[in-house]
Amino acid sequence: MENVRLDKWLATAGIGTRSEVKKLCKAGRVRVNGEVVKDPAVHAVIGRDVVECDGEPIPYEQFVYFMMYKPQGVLSATEDVRQPVVTELLAARDRSYGVFPVGRLDKDAEGLLLLTNDGQLAHSLLSPKRHVPKRYFVRVEGCLDERDRDAIAAGVILEDGYACLPGRLEIHVAGDESEASIEIYEGKFHQVKRMFQALGKQVTFLKRVTMGPLVLDPGLTPGAYRPLSAVELEPLL
Ligand code: URA
Repeated sequence: MENVRLDKWLATAGIGTRSEVKKLCKAGRVRVNGEVVKDPAVHAVIGRDVVECDGEPIPYEQFVYFMMYKPQGVLSATEDVRQPVVTELLAARDRSYGVFPVGRLDKDAEGLLLLTNDGQLAHSLLSPKRHVPKRYFVRVEGCLDERDRDAIAAGVILEDGYACLPGRLEIHVAGDESEASIEIYEGKFHQVKRMFQALGKQVTFLKRVTMGPLVLDPGLTPGAYRPLSAVELEPLL
């Protein structure tokens, strides 16, 4: 059975920094299985012991996973001196877990963004070898047709000569401005925009809808987020 020091348990759960939670213990505000424990170095057993702070049970959470609807105008980053970043949209407690965005969406793009402090999961989802599928809804200037669909299915050659992996284009609306869904299996910088640019079309709206098995929750509004459910998390781990 894995056991964890009380100060680590509480700090990992976002209750405070290590020194702050030590003070909480010393003040008698922390209980383990109903008993006040003032020594922050005492260990509690994950899955067996009940740790409480001010009477509130604190589950041991090493890793947290949030699905966010990233809004436009915000950077997919944890800090920036001039511009707003996605972690600023989190409640202070959720930010305190040290989460970061898994991959990037451009500042002017919106949609599904996973935030976690689980570096291994992030690494595996972003690994170029995994070819994790990502689906985007796009609006582009110009009329999309089957030649665009075939070009994307064959693998678009970007202006810098990079040959994209074959993708899938589903055209919803074709006209002066077209709407489509595109699925790609890699994640180069500005990839979707550059793929359409290579086809002579400019992307005017870009929204990520899926990433691997994750689907953007239609109940989330831009800027909102929620923890992943156990069902969503299971296939990722
Ligand atoms: N492709 C882009 O061009 N931009 C994104 O943000 C994501 C994919």
